[in-house]
Amino acid sequence: MDHIDAVRTPASWVVVGLDNGGTCNNATVLDATGQFLVDRLVENPSRVQDGPESAIESLADAFTAILELTSTPLSLVRAVGLDTPGPASSTGVISSKGSTNFSQVSWHGFDIRGALEDRIGLPVVYANDANAAALYAHHRHFGPTATEKSSVAAIVGTGLGGGVVEGGKVVSGTAGMAGELGHVQIPLHGVLKEDQPVPVCNCGFEGDVESIASLTGIANNLLPYWLTRFPDHPLAAEPIARAAKLLRGYGEKQDPLALAVFGQQARAIGKLFTIAANFTDPAAYFLGGGVVEADPRFRQWFLNTVRENTQLRREQQEAATFALVPDLDMAGARGAAVAALDTVPA
Ligand SMILES: [Zn+2]
Repeated sequence: MDHIDAVRTPASWVVVGLDNGGTCNNATVLDATGQFLVDRLVENPSRVQDGPESAIESLADAFTAILELTSTPLSLVRAVGLDTPGPASSTGVISSKGSTNFSQVSWHGFDIRGALEDRIGLPVVYANDANAAALYAHHRHFGPTATEKSSVAAIVGTGLGGGVVEGGKVVSGTAGMAGELGHVQIPLHGVLKEDQPVPVCNCGFEGDVESIASLTGIANNLLPYWLTRFPDHPLAAEPIARAAKLLRGYGEKQDPLALAVFGQQARAIGKLFTIAANFTDPAAYFLGGGVVEADPRFRQWFLNTVRENTQLRREQQEAATFALVPDLDMAGARGAAVAALDTVPA
């Protein structure tokens, strides 16, 4: 169990964390002393493709079910933390353009936080999923000293999510768009081959982190190039989206094409962390995503490559650590719960 804050004494109240994903919700309970009452993934279908009304009912079901599972009376719940994939405002209004998960028109501009708050009659605190995972990694890593520390997290998935934590709190920004680390443009020297086209991101930027360090970046940019260098590779026979998903398995077997692609991803994240070092000079650099679940040897090689490509000053090297985001499948719900806990007066 994780110790979040040693100062809070009586476990006389709790907060609930709800992580809303494309197919499932995941729920957890965190008590006032910083103990999680759930040590595993507890999921129900999220029904986001059925539109907001069904999705809010599914979140309410997840809330009720997790209280039942942990034998927690409703009267003990002080707040609920909710995280979803972005883009959304800092108060949980889904982008007016929709998003991958919230593609139905009824989702566009929908206030998911407000709707859940109305439905369950308790204060709901919102975070985007990457920010929630960053917050959990931060509190898990630093424990009782979390409120004195800063960190940056990069989470490689379909896109590249991230979060910036300062003094134990997520930096969310004026419009809720702080910590969108995937769309930070990085110097490409030392990342790309000389004859390699400059990668383009879905956001329209050239050479941002997500255009390289994401599944989308592999499918759209890196793999098409590297397959021209390895034309006889078995993945050349696969549709590109499937080939991109299969690539990690090849990386774990030390396949040269896969290592070339993942090496470029790790160097891109190193460039991002170098920018972070000069921006907020964090105490910890966290790396998350599929690579966390990979074979330990491959995972360590990836983390080492990120570290070798993060240019820190000597003083920073002595003060900062590199680590993986733990419990990634539960990190969203747990981070949302931590965010909720922070809003309840001690
Ligand atoms: Zn971008």
